[in-house]
Amino acid sequence: MDCIFCKIANNEIPSSKVYEDEKIVAFNDLNPKAPVHVLIIPKEHIKSADYITQENQSIIGEIFMVASEIAKKQGLKNGYRIVNNCGEEGGQTVKHLHFHLMGGRKMEWPAG
Ligand code: 5GP
Ligand code: ZN
Repeated sequence: MDCIFCKIANNEIPSSKVYEDEKIVAFNDLNPKAPVHVLIIPKEHIKSADYITQENQSIIGEIFMVASEIAKKQGLKNGYRIVNNCGEEGGQTVKHLHFHLMGGRKMEWPAG
């Protein structure tokens, strides 16, 4: 499948991985928007948050547990942000479900 994040998960293209288990991979964003900017993805190709089903939903809880673990490891003791962009207007550019874990600076709201 021609999916950049599947290729990263399969080690077909290089990335700077910070976490991996049998179902999840996390790696540094190529174009970081914060001092810590990690992308956490299921290895399974799920197109977006719109494609979470009864069958695959447990991966979301696992991703959030991994996010907290990575945040601790990266020293984000004052907090962090987890973002999911879904679909065109949500700002999703890569069509493989991913969560942005961002921290190391004060986040603005909304967005920013
Ligand atoms: P989206 O805009 O879909 O929510 O986020 C996609 C993210 O993937 C962007 O922050 C972008 O910088 C990152 N990205 C796109 N291509 C690559 C890549 O080949 N390697 C890495 N590490 N990050 C990528
Ligand atoms: Zn994929």
